Amino acid sequence: MRYISTRDLESRQVGFSDILLAGLAPDGGLYLPVDYPQLDRATLAEWRQLLADEGYAAVGHRVLGLYIDDIPSDDLLGICRRAWNGQVFASDDVVPVTRLPESGDDAPGGIWLAHLSDGPTAAFKDMAMQLLGQLFEYELARRGTTITILGATSGDTGSAAEYAMLGRQGIDVFMLTPAGRMTPFQQAQMFSIDDPHIHNLAVDGVFDDCQDLVKAVMGDAEFKQRHRLGAVNSINWARVLAQLVYYVVAWLRVTESDDEQVSFAVPTGNFGNICAGHIARQMGLPIKHLVLATNENDVLDEFFRTGRYRVRSAAETAATSSPSMDISKASNFERFVFDLLGRDPARLRKRFVDQLGSDGEFDLSATAEFATIEQRFGFVSGSSSHADRVMTIGAMAEEGVLVDPHTADALRVARDHAGAEPMIVLETALPVKFAETIVEATGVEPQVPERFAGLLQAPRKVDEIANDAGALKEYIAARV
Ligand SMILES: *Cc1c(COP(=O)(O)O)cnc(C)c1O
Repeated sequence: MRYISTRDLESRQVGFSDILLAGLAPDGGLYLPVDYPQLDRATLAEWRQLLADEGYAAVGHRVLGLYIDDIPSDDLLGICRRAWNGQVFASDDVVPVTRLPESGDDAPGGIWLAHLSDGPTAAFKDMAMQLLGQLFEYELARRGTTITILGATSGDTGSAAEYAMLGRQGIDVFMLTPAGRMTPFQQAQMFSIDDPHIHNLAVDGVFDDCQDLVKAVMGDAEFKQRHRLGAVNSINWARVLAQLVYYVVAWLRVTESDDEQVSFAVPTGNFGNICAGHIARQMGLPIKHLVLATNENDVLDEFFRTGRYRVRSAAETAATSSPSMDISKASNFERFVFDLLGRDPARLRKRFVDQLGSDGEFDLSATAEFATIEQRFGFVSGSSSHADRVMTIGAMAEEGVLVDPHTADALRVARDHAGAEPMIVLETALPVKFAETIVEATGVEPQVPERFAGLLQAPRKVDEIANDAGALKEYIAARV
């Protein structure tokens, strides 16, 4: 399998291992495979059996094997097994799927939850990050080199990255967080890690300041090369690939026959999670609708309703109670638009480089492609507000199911699009991460799962740092 950039088909085609450690393509585009392998009924039937016999990692190995041909198959199987198992995740199922009690009333296919948040940091980012940790360690050892991961987080990504890279040979992590801005559980999760290769930094500023600092340091090519800086952000192709697996497994767990359709509802921020759903559908997995759910930061809902993609300024981006979806632009969205525009890099560049660069927006409402977006690509969308989230969480709790605010956003929007097929809502975090909103909705503190007992009381390790690129470089240089 070869990979291309969304902005230039001709530039050069590269293999999986080459893009694993890279971020953007050299032309600023995102990497995608030259085509999407097609899943036929026989393959799906075989995977159904494989899931029953050997479990999640074995199916993951097959899915990944369609896209990775420069890692020997046995090695890849070992990587998958180390990433996705009942020691790393809460159960051997890795991603259990449950049917909601309310199902059956207005939705014949039922509403289901796919539990993506049973990993070490209780958010769906673990699904991809655990694989990335294994892949990085493998590839760095093969090349005889090391990497220094530099990132900024508003919560879920940073902790998922740290737990995935913890103890991996050849990897140091420097993670910037906005001082005092994460939830108490998120802070405890990151800052309780005590390891010489994991560095937590609290920046005197907001998340955007953290991101700007990362950009400034990464922009210093000499420094970047000297300290072998790399990133693990959501545009990394291996993360999208890892996420393909749970669409396949959730579909297998909910269906009985190999052509039965389901829909997925996805709480969406940077379009990483749902991008994998889009690719699964393009591969022929029987998906009817991809229900894209946003919170008040409705950049993507606006696009799927109107055809207009308008990025927001920092000032226009609200801080909501589903904070992991508070985005001003969606970093993975270019991948979908590339497919939408017939994989024509010239048309893609006109929108993402020219128009977005000069006007901060582009408008596809008049195109033939946008007119058939639901029919051809399955997308529908909606958004919800804080009041919607609180109401959904409260109503669900009365039925005995507690969901986090992000999952609540997806549930709310899913109900507007329920049809005859099963609707699988992707649960992206556990309630315990967002206790304040849970208390507001239900009046009670969410239960702390056994495996996180004592976390809030654990000693903390975090260094405070000024909002200054020079200071950050000094800090890094003193340690790697
Ligand atoms: C990251 C995250 C999201 C958004 O996922 P994208 O891939 O950015 O669309 C939703 N919910 C939770 C809990 C998250 O951590």
